[in-house]
Amino acid sequence: MTDKNKTAISAEDAEAHKEKMKAQQGEHRAKMREKEKAERGLLLVHTGDGKGKSTAAFGTIIRALGWGWNVGIVQYIKGTWKTGEKEFFKRFDDLVTMKTMGDGFTWDTQDKEQDIASARKAWIESKAMMSSGDYDLVVLDELNIVLRNNYLSVEEVLDGLADRHVDTDVIVTGRTAPQALMDAADLVTEMTMIKHPFEAGIKAKQGIDY
Ligand code: ATP
Ligand code: MG
Repeated sequence: MTDKNKTAISAEDAEAHKEKMKAQQGEHRAKMREKEKAERGLLLVHTGDGKGKSTAAFGTIIRALGWGWNVGIVQYIKGTWKTGEKEFFKRFDDLVTMKTMGDGFTWDTQDKEQDIASARKAWIESKAMMSSGDYDLVVLDELNIVLRNNYLSVEEVLDGLADRHVDTDVIVTGRTAPQALMDAADLVTEMTMIKHPFEAGIKAKQGIDY
């Protein structure tokens, strides 16, 4: 073997090595991207007319608390009512911050201007929670109802969700989720009403409904 040949083989080797390294680097980058994808905060939407949308969000909060996560909750629409979930989360006030829109059910207040103002206030709270990086999980309970009533625009809500901290998971609940919100979500679950005690004249029950 001449020196010339030897050099040629080395150059080939070097080229092959370079290719191998490039492929490995590509693989590593793809893995990192997958990891980033898996670890970024997700947007979950619970919608549909069956019962269980808020319940499922509260169930997820229990999971999150099990891992010591910080959780923020903003309840739209529902106001001053005493609920089991509120009483429960009070026991976890080191991890859970719960804000309520505060004016009671919209059909009680009969004041659209006031409803819009409180929706806006709750949205400002929600945006602050989502962008702060202080919360691992933020639940925007019944936000879809506010959107359906046009108290907030879908565009500004989508902007606020997009601006959230990269690690923050968000759950939005409520019947009639707008299509654009479902398009932006990572997960959409639709609860289907097969049967509800309300139809048999059974009223909302403590411990089951509130
Ligand atoms: P929950 O908070 O019990 O998980 P939800 O979030 O799926 O219910 P909402 O649309 O927020 O449902 O309704 C709030 C209240 O209305 C709850 O008390 C719930 O039991 C009741 N409800 C839910 N679905 C129905 C239904 N199909 N018919 C009548 N009442 C319902
Ligand atoms: Mg609900």
